[in-house]
Amino acid sequence: MNGASTFGFHWSSWAPNKCNIFMWRAFLDRLPTKMALVRRNVAIDNQFCVWCEAYEETIEHVLTGCVMAVGVWNAISVWCNIPRPFVFHVKDLVDLHDHSGVVGVKKMILHGIIIIACWRLWRARNDKVFNSKVSNVVDMVADIKTLGFYGTNICLRVG
Ligand SMILES: [Zn+2]
Repeated sequence: MNGASTFGFHWSSWAPNKCNIFMWRAFLDRLPTKMALVRRNVAIDNQFCVWCEAYEETIEHVLTGCVMAVGVWNAISVWCNIPRPFVFHVKDLVDLHDHSGVVGVKKMILHGIIIIACWRLWRARNDKVFNSKVSNVVDMVADIKTLGFYGTNICLRVG
């Protein structure tokens, strides 16, 4: 599957499979967000985001709109030296590496980092829902950087 395009979603050649698979499911809107459960007539306590509690929990909100997501994307834009991304849909994230002014190996690295960041946001969301664990942007970005450095080594070797 690596490097392949699956109906408009390009898999990162180096990001862990679990992250690629997560991103693909997000792209297809197949994740069990609260609003997805409402659509399937599953009874839930409330439909609001577990972090800000101000907006309905859709995959767009968790990955782009919520203050937690905005914090992560701002930190990544500084770290990767790209313009601060304006993302509103999963599609924007899937294409972001193509519109960030980077090429070659750097683009390959950025592609994987974006996918890992989305996966990490969702993991933090699940930590809150299932374990009442509150995450913060600094810890999430530290994890993303750890996986990002690993990817950088791979990309520099093959690129
Ligand atoms: Zn929110």
